[in-house]
Amino acid sequence: MNLHQDTVTTGFKIVCTDCGSLSIKPTDPAHASDDTIIECRHCNAVRGTLADLQVLARRSRDVFEF
Ligand SMILES: [Zn+2]
Repeated sequence: MNLHQDTVTTGFKIVCTDCGSLSIKPTDPAHASDDTIIECRHCNAVRGTLADLQVLARRSRDVFEF
């Protein structure tokens, strides 16, 4: 398992460190840049950037659905 290693590499928090939620606020890619901040849908904590999320999505395509 190298999922933890990928999390460290991208900096994106799959699980919120504040509330433990997996949910994130939806963003509109058409109006968002790579450095757009992705926030926790539950508590608004910063989970990472859109660029981090995209890297994570590419690497974890078989694990997560977006
Ligand atoms: Zn949260």
